[in-house]
Amino acid sequence: MLQSRLFPETKKEAPRDAVSINHKLLVRAGFIDQLMAGSWTLLPMGQRVVSKVNNIIREELNKIGCQEILMPLLHPKNIWNETGRWDSAREVMYQFEDSRGREYALSFTHEEIFLDLTRKFVRSYQDLPIALYHFSTKFRNEPRARSGILRGREFLMKDLYSIHRDENDFWSFYELVKGAYSEIFRRIGFNFRIIEAGGGVFTQNKTHEFQVISDGGEDLIYYCNSCDWGQNQEIFDGKVGDVCPKCGKGEIVSSKSIEVGNIFPFGTYYSELMRIYFTDSDGSKKPPFFGSYGIGTTRIIGAWAEVSHDDKGIIWSRAIAPFDVHLLELGHGGSTRKKAQDVYKKLTKLGVDVLWDDRDLSAGEKFADSDLIGIPIRLVVSDGKNDLEYKERESEVTHRLTFEGLINMFDGK
Ligand code: ATP
Ligand code: MG
Repeated sequence: MLQSRLFPETKKEAPRDAVSINHKLLVRAGFIDQLMAGSWTLLPMGQRVVSKVNNIIREELNKIGCQEILMPLLHPKNIWNETGRWDSAREVMYQFEDSRGREYALSFTHEEIFLDLTRKFVRSYQDLPIALYHFSTKFRNEPRARSGILRGREFLMKDLYSIHRDENDFWSFYELVKGAYSEIFRRIGFNFRIIEAGGGVFTQNKTHEFQVISDGGEDLIYYCNSCDWGQNQEIFDGKVGDVCPKCGKGEIVSSKSIEVGNIFPFGTYYSELMRIYFTDSDGSKKPPFFGSYGIGTTRIIGAWAEVSHDDKGIIWSRAIAPFDVHLLELGHGGSTRKKAQDVYKKLTKLGVDVLWDDRDLSAGEKFADSDLIGIPIRLVVSDGKNDLEYKERESEVTHRLTFEGLINMFDGK
């Protein structure tokens, strides 16, 4: 991609109303744009990052047997009435009447819609389990939408739903999802914890949140500094410095954090309300065990900017960076253009995604933009030098490389 063609240009200043780091950096660097409070356009580079995140999620969920679908965003009132959530979730749900007086809601989640779908098909225990997910928009009437893209009134989520013949099958799948989620967040590069949280009104069980440790977070979590135990503020009954209730060795510490995922065991609560029953092998009718599992995909890009930046800009991990390499062409010589072109062509052929800064700007401006955008590898070609300069965004060290040395580095990767 030629940077002269990339939409839009970077900004020198952050928007005046921006308070959070992700808002300032992602807007300045040209990843997102605000339509109104809590409502964001994903610009080309933002869309690239979210696509990479989605692909990681897709790969890990497909590995555990989930299938991708796409459910509607416009929901009829009667389905939400079956569980009582038309009334109980009124505060968060956008509800409205159309010109013929029919009532609808915009999707704030999809439990009821998934169960309505599956009850049309599930007859016997042989039809179970079913695990379906989609990537789609959620609308929530959030009272505070001030944390940049961390909290939207319209945002993207990956949500997975599953139904099972019995409790055992449910819990073994729940653990598989926990593992898949851990792998997803590990691949992205987050420092995260799995934290127990309350079930709310709909489940007696604890739910599990995936929390990224971050000063920019709105949540507060308590966890053991030695084992994997942790709870969120709402259910934790203790204080920092207590001995860990699980391992008895570690000490409880606390951090601010950003919730990037949440998984919910619902038992048969929703299945019964929605009257979804299957025939088991002994002929009896049973409601399936149900779970739902969400990941905030647009929140992830904000969370990354919060935890991985310096005073110059964002520092993307290779797994989710908008491009693999930022190629800066410095100077105006025809031979420099030719060299940049060779590098661009060759790397592109090797499957490396390159942003080529071909603009007519000073070296200082190009370096500043490169640091702001935060692509993991920077290559510089300049007038009068045969070799290239290689630098990783997270390091201060630059190396000199020949063209052949560079190609060897990427070949086979
Ligand atoms: P929060 O406590 O932050 O309001 P939640 O617990 O209400 O979130 P869930 O219903 O668990 O959210 O949604 C699943 C995931 O969707 C969350 O873990 C989070 O990553 C993401 N998410 C939730 N609300 C928002 C929002 N307003 N903007 C962006 N992402 C969100
Ligand atoms: Mg949650």
